[in-house]
Amino acid sequence: MTANARGLEDAVADCLFCKIVAGDIPSDQVYEDDAVVAFRDIAPQAPVHVLVVPRRHVSSLDGLRDDPDLAGRLLTAAAHVARAEGVHRSGYRVAVNHGRHGAQSVGHVHLHVLGGRQLEGELG
Ligand code: AMP
Repeated sequence: MTANARGLEDAVADCLFCKIVAGDIPSDQVYEDDAVVAFRDIAPQAPVHVLVVPRRHVSSLDGLRDDPDLAGRLLTAAAHVARAEGVHRSGYRVAVNHGRHGAQSVGHVHLHVLGGRQLEGELG
């Protein structure tokens, strides 16, 4: 096994969202397809707060540079989730935190889908 492959295996073994995708840690799942899983955030910051994650381990948005198909799948899944949650008319926000300054706390890329109340205008 190459060092790269070993590194990825270690990352997957330690990854909270990989464990959720695998069903090893319970989640309140609201959507799934062959590439993407979506589940409610454990500490919701809005009445609707869903995380959309790829099934395969990608540590951050930066890792999606070479996979525009998966990036698109995540975004379209977010739109499906918003519609299923009934916020597509009232409006919602999709956010991705990347790295330290972006305040990313879980090292498996995820889209936050937030809605169900008037969100504030400031993002930063
Ligand atoms: P971020 O800070 O962008 O990395 O977002 C990580 C999000 O994961 C936070 O909003 C957490 O509340 C959420 N989170 C952490 N652990 C869990 C879990 N076990 N199930 C669902 N959401 C979680």
